[in-house]
Amino acid sequence: MFRRFKIKLGQKEPLFLTCKNSDCNNIMMTQFRAYRAERGLWGPSLEECPRCKETHNYDQNDLHFGPNEVGYGHSESPEAE
Ligand SMILES: [Zn+2]
Repeated sequence: MFRRFKIKLGQKEPLFLTCKNSDCNNIMMTQFRAYRAERGLWGPSLEECPRCKETHNYDQNDLHFGPNEVGYGHSESPEAE
């Protein structure tokens, strides 16, 4: 039996950073966009929070999709062996 699967990647979605100042926790939208199936390397990069003006080092483990979603760089990979 032959079935054709059409895998839809959808649109690239914006990635967010959450401020590392625990008193602030500002969600910052980055200029990055990625597919949900995709993982990449980024950083470390110094980013200044526009709300509290604190500067912290961020990398791909700090990137996440929605304001309440888990990380982008975290390894919850389905292909893990
Ligand atoms: Zn902040």
